[in-house]
Parts: sequence; C-alpha cells; structure tokens
Amino acid sequence: MSCIGGGPAGLLLGILLHRSGRGDVTVYERNAPDDTFGFGVVFSDETLSNLRSADPEVFDRIEQEFAYWPTMDVVHRGRLLRSGGHGFAAMSRQRLLSLLIDRAVELGVDVRHRTEIAVGQLPADADLVVICDGVNSAHRNALASSGHRSSAARRSTSGSAPRSTSPSSRSCSPRPSGASSRRTCTRSRPPIPRS
Ligand SMILES: Cc1cc2nc3c(=O)[nH]c(=O)nc-3n(C[C@H](O)[C@H](O)[C@H](O)COP(=O)(O)OP(=O)(O)OC[C@H]3O[C@@H](n4cnc5c(N)ncnc54)[C@H](O)[C@@H]3O)c2cc1C
Repeated sequence: MSCIGGGPAGLLLGILLHRSGRGDVTVYERNAPDDTFGFGVVFSDETLSNLRSADPEVFDRIEQEFAYWPTMDVVHRGRLLRSGGHGFAAMSRQRLLSLLIDRAVELGVDVRHRTEIAVGQLPADADLVVICDGVNSAHRNALASSGHRSSAARRSTSGSAPRSTSPSSRSCSPRPSGASSRRTCTRSRPPIPRS
C-alpha cells in the first residue's frame, strides 16, 4: 500500500494501515523531513479524541508536547467572560511531523522523503494507493479531470478531523414526510482528553 504525501494525513494513515497488518506500507514525500513550514497545528477536543482512539501511542507522544486550553477567557472593560466546552490544543507542525515520522519508521513503514510522485505515475507495485498530497491535490485534480469520481467528499479544516457518523456519536430522528421537512440530528460530545 502506498500513500502519496507525507503530511499529517499520509503519515498517520501509513501508521494505521501498517498497524492493520494488511501488508507493507510506503509513504512518498517530496520534501525533506525538516522542510516543512513552521506554523502551529491546533487540535480540537474531537480531533484529540479521534487521535487517541486511532493510535494511543501517537496520542501519548503528542500529548506530552502540546499546550492545552480547556477554556477561553475574554476580558472586556475589566470584566472576565470565561467560555468552556470547546477545549483545544496546539503544537508546532514540524514537531508533529517529526513525531509521526518517528512512529511510522519504528513500526516499519517505509517513509521515503525527497521522493516526488509525478502526476499520472502512481506507484505500480501497490495494491492500494491513497493520495494524501494536500488540499490542492494535483493528483486528485488530474484524476477528476480524466473522469474519475473524487472520493474526497469531506475534508479536515482548522484542526477538525472529518466528523464521525458512527451510531454511537450521531443519531437522527426519522425523516418526516413532505419535501420541506427536515430531520434533526444530534451528536454526543466526545470525551474530554486527559489533562
Ligand atoms: C498558515 C496555516 C495554518 C494552519 N493551521 C492549521 C491548524 O491549526 N490546524 C489544522 O488542523 N490545520 C491547519 N492548517 C491546515 C493544515 O495545514 C492541514 O489541515 C494539514 O496540513 C493537512 O494535512 P495533509 O497531510 O492532508 O496535507 P499537507 O500537510 O498539505 O501534506 C501534503 C504533503 O504531500 C506532499 N506532496 C504533495 N504532492 C506530492 C507528490 N506529488 N509527491 C510526493 N509528495 C507530495 C507535500 O509536500 C506535503 O508534505 C493550516 C494551514 C496553514 C497554511
């Protein structure tokens, strides 16, 4: 199995595919390991919760390094307004990538930096190729323009992983009859991460 792109998505997927025990995994990344931009990455509680259930070892390593804010304070004219229920954590993107690279390599994922996969030349030796080359994906755009359907229906933004639709976290009322009728859906909150 191959992942094209060694950003957070490609590396974590490589880790999870490897842990699934379904075969060898190679991650191709065009940049060097320390080439990445230096900005921070913010994780919502929901993303942290998803990370912890996906790979507790990765979560534990990230948890040791991120800063966590359970509440937000707004001070206006000397008055403090404290808002809770939307905790978030942040760490350097470069550090996040280093942790993911280390974990992937330890597990036996073949992470190949400075290896760009040209559009139209997917690795021929893989049974499964997952394109993880970022939001402006040249590979997905090329496939879409050649008539392939895009499976990238949902994207992660601002630290939120795609929302879970598992029955345990999301429930919807039966759809009422009538064209303008709407269903209501509720989602239970994920557990707050350990402090
Ligand atoms: C200023 C800024 C701040 C941001 N802040 C946040 C934040 O706080 N929280 C958050 O969740 N997100 C944030 N984002 C968005 C964040 O960058 C993305 O959510 C995240 O990087 C997506 O990960 P990814 O692995 O899908 O894509 P990317 O990080 O874009 O990784 C794609 C990788 O694929 C590689 N690649 C591309 N083409 C090829 C090819 N042909 N061959 C081999 N390798 C290739 C690229 O070099 C890159 O390393 C921010 C973005 C910016 C610009």
